[in-house]
Amino acid sequence: MSQPDIQLIRGFKDILPGETELWQLIERTAIGLFEDFGYREIRIPIMEKTELFARSIGEDTDIVEKEMYTFADRKGDQLTLRPEATASICRSYIQHKMYAQDPVRKFYTIGPMFRRERPQKGRYRQFYQIDAEIFGVAAPYADVELILLLRTLFERLNVTDTTAHVNSLGCPACRPRFKQALSALLAEAASALCSDCLRRKDRNPLRVMDCKVPGCREAMKGAPAIIDYLCDACSSHFSTVTDMLTRLGVPYHVDKQLVRGLDYYTRTAFEIQTGALGAQSAVAGGGRYDGLVGSLGGPEVPAIGFAIGFDRLAEIVALNTPAGVRPPDLYIAALGEPARKLAFEWSTALGLNGIGTAMDYGDKSLKAQMKQANRAGVGRVLIVGESELESGTVVLRNMAAKTQRDIPIAAVVDTLIETFTKKEHSIG
Ligand code: AMP
Repeated sequence: MSQPDIQLIRGFKDILPGETELWQLIERTAIGLFEDFGYREIRIPIMEKTELFARSIGEDTDIVEKEMYTFADRKGDQLTLRPEATASICRSYIQHKMYAQDPVRKFYTIGPMFRRERPQKGRYRQFYQIDAEIFGVAAPYADVELILLLRTLFERLNVTDTTAHVNSLGCPACRPRFKQALSALLAEAASALCSDCLRRKDRNPLRVMDCKVPGCREAMKGAPAIIDYLCDACSSHFSTVTDMLTRLGVPYHVDKQLVRGLDYYTRTAFEIQTGALGAQSAVAGGGRYDGLVGSLGGPEVPAIGFAIGFDRLAEIVALNTPAGVRPPDLYIAALGEPARKLAFEWSTALGLNGIGTAMDYGDKSLKAQMKQANRAGVGRVLIVGESELESGTVVLRNMAAKTQRDIPIAAVVDTLIETFTKKEHSIG
C-alpha cells in the first residue's frame, strides 16, 4: 500500500466515513438530551492564553506540567491548545458577564482537546469531549442531574455496562485536617514515591493520590480517604447526592479512592467507568468546582460539570451499534454522453428535493454501473441509454422485488419525487 509523503501526527487520527455516522448519532443523542434539560450550546476557541489553563487546572498537574501543547506565537504570547473545556467556559462566562442577570446557566460543548500523553488504545493526543457545565447552582441537585444525564445518554446509546463512581473531595474548610493525615502517610512512604510525587507531596499532597505510577499507587493503598474528613456542610451535600441518586434509580458506587486529576475540584467528584474497553476504564468524569469562577477573577459562583471521552464512547458504542450508513435512494445508470447529461440534471434536481442519488460521471459499462449500484445497496436503479432517449421512456428497476416499470422521460423528476416522498413500496 502506498503511503503519503507526510503522515498524521503521532497520537492524532482521522475519523473516517463509516465512523462519522456513529459520531453523528452520538452527537444527536447528546444534543437532544441536553436541550430537553435546558442546556445551551457554547462554542469556545481551541486556543487560549497558557495562563488560563495553568491557573485553573493547576501548576502541579500532569496536564500542565507535561502534556500541554504550548508555544509562543509570532509576537511572543504564550498560547496553548486547550486540554479541556471547563477553563475556557469559565473564562467566557466571566468575560461576557453571563452571571449579571441570572448566574444560573447550563452549557454544553463538543469538540477536540489536546494533550501530549503517551498514545495508546483509547488515548490520543487530539481527542474529543462532550462537555456539560452548570453555573450558579450550589445545591446538590445539579450534581445529581449531571450524573443522571450521563447515565441516560449511555443507556440511549445502548451502553449499559457502566457504573457511576462518586466521591466527595471536600472543600477548603475540611481539607486541612485531611491533608495533615495524608502528609503523615506520605512522609512515611516517601522512599516509594516517583520523583514527581516527591516534589508534589509537600506542595500538593492530593495530587499524589491520583498518580498512575504503580509504585505510588501501591504506596497510596493505605491512604486516608477524604470522605472520612468532610465538614458537616460537605457531608450533608454528599448525602443528598447519594439519596437523590437512589430516589431516581441511578446506580452508583461510593469510591473513596476517586480523586480527579485537576486542582479545581471541590465536593462531588464522579466518573463513569466501563469494563467494555479494558484498561482505559473511565469514559466520563466530572465534578464540582465551586471556587474556580472566583479564582479566575469572576464573582463567587459555584459550578459543576463533566466531560465525556467521545473517542472512547464511540469505540464502546461501535461494539453493539452498526454505523447505519444510509444508502442512496436511487442509482441512475446512464449510457452515452447525451443520456449522462440528462441523468446529471435529474440527479441534481432529485438531490435538491432531498432524494439521495448516485451515478457514475465517467463512461462505465451498464454491467459495471449495475455492480456499483449493488455495492452501494441501492433499492432502485433508473436506466437511461440511447434507446430510452429514442423511445422517450426510461426504466425504473426495483432491485429487491426484481420488478420494473417505464417512466416517460418528460416526467422523470416529478414521478420520482412523488415515488420517494410518498414512500410507496408497491410502485415496482
Ligand atoms: P478529564 O478531562 O481528564 O477528566 O477526562 C474526561 C474524559 O475524557 C476521560 O474520562 C476520558 O474518557 C477522556 N480522555 C481524557 N484524556 C484522553 C485522551 N488522551 N484520549 C482519549 N480520551 C481521553
